[in-house]
Amino acid sequence: MNKYRDYDNYMKEYPTGDGYFGRYGGNYLEDPELNKAFNEYAEGYNTIAQSAQFINELRRIRRDFQGRPTPVYHCQNLSNLLGRTQIYLKREDLNHTGAHKLNHCMGEGLLAKFMGKKKLIAETGAGQHGVALATAAAYFGLECDIYMGEVDIAKQAPNVTRMKMLGANVIPVKFGLRTLKEAVDAAFVAYSKEYKDAIYCIGTAAGPHPFPLMVRDFQYVIGQEAREQFLEQTGHLPDQVVACVGGGSNSIGMFTPFLADPVELVGVEPLGRGPHLGDHASTLTYGREGVMHGFNSIMLADEEGEPAPVYSNASGLDYPAVGPEHAMLHDMGRVRYTTIDDEEAMEALFLLSRNEGIIPAIESSHALAHAIKVGRTGVTGSILVNLSGRGDKDMDYIVEHYGYGDEFLKKMEERRKER
Ligand SMILES: *Cc1c(COP(=O)(O)O)cnc(C)c1O
Repeated sequence: MNKYRDYDNYMKEYPTGDGYFGRYGGNYLEDPELNKAFNEYAEGYNTIAQSAQFINELRRIRRDFQGRPTPVYHCQNLSNLLGRTQIYLKREDLNHTGAHKLNHCMGEGLLAKFMGKKKLIAETGAGQHGVALATAAAYFGLECDIYMGEVDIAKQAPNVTRMKMLGANVIPVKFGLRTLKEAVDAAFVAYSKEYKDAIYCIGTAAGPHPFPLMVRDFQYVIGQEAREQFLEQTGHLPDQVVACVGGGSNSIGMFTPFLADPVELVGVEPLGRGPHLGDHASTLTYGREGVMHGFNSIMLADEEGEPAPVYSNASGLDYPAVGPEHAMLHDMGRVRYTTIDDEEAMEALFLLSRNEGIIPAIESSHALAHAIKVGRTGVTGSILVNLSGRGDKDMDYIVEHYGYGDEFLKKMEERRKER
């Protein structure tokens, strides 16, 4: 299956009723209470989210609260600098709270409301998902428990402050390495005890069924808007559509509306410091099949099959697995997955800041860096990049590690000349 017309019925075919994308996905949780909770969740989603009442309410929220549609913007200065390639951005950085994550958090919050739940439960690593979910909880008048490793709480002070200001309970996780993995475990345990009154909200298009399906559906709005806006502005489709891939939520939302079009789809994984295990989080490029956090997908594992340590300068991208739908699209060959390292991403970040007046998130800069790389080969055509978030959250880290850009851009320029 790789001719575009084969994808006309894709959304109906995948996932299957029990949450499979080909061999990937499903629900591999062993705790019977958790399974009961997730089955009830899937049933609630399948019935409620199709109703006109739910769809209309979500549409209103997106327009009035989130500020959607977000624009598609033609980067004329950056395109002129590159020569022939025209670069366009889907501006998810202008979505309320500054990134795409709110798209699925508002959907999950609305579902909780329709299901009569009183509380939202989640884990967070860098705190971006926690802030988006705390925002949704405040909007819907729901309680919000965010599990976060003690180590991450110390590292991510501004996001902890935001969550608290939004009225969420930030619950420190004090066992193991006290980071994201333990926070996931703690949130699952809490959910298995509280599922009658609460729903669990994952931060990306991964996890057991129904999360990959549900998050894709809530993020679909990105690609749907972008496709229409791009056609209206240019009269044609882009040659390439590009997005960064952590767990895979912004990219799956961007890609799915283009699956049946003659458009090349490119997912960009973080190469971090290089290709050695532990130095990157390029799951589809270097990983293999395995079960983690209750679903089957491609993952980065050590020799015992445990999740391997991962690294990227973009904290939203350093996840040792990937959503199951991406694993399938990778095997089908419909999406091409490539890598960008820390420094290439930073060069893109500084170039966009200086030439267009937009400071992107380091995550999103990985996608942009791929477009710039293509532009430098001198090809004609147009590339639509999903700018998943804004860079405000990264300011202190950037200045400490890379300065304001002058020296860094010179260094990268010289390195290119040497090659
Ligand atoms: C969390 C995050 C990502 C990565 O998550 P996906 O689920 O892969 O989209 C990318 N960009 C930004 C700005 C983020 O906050």
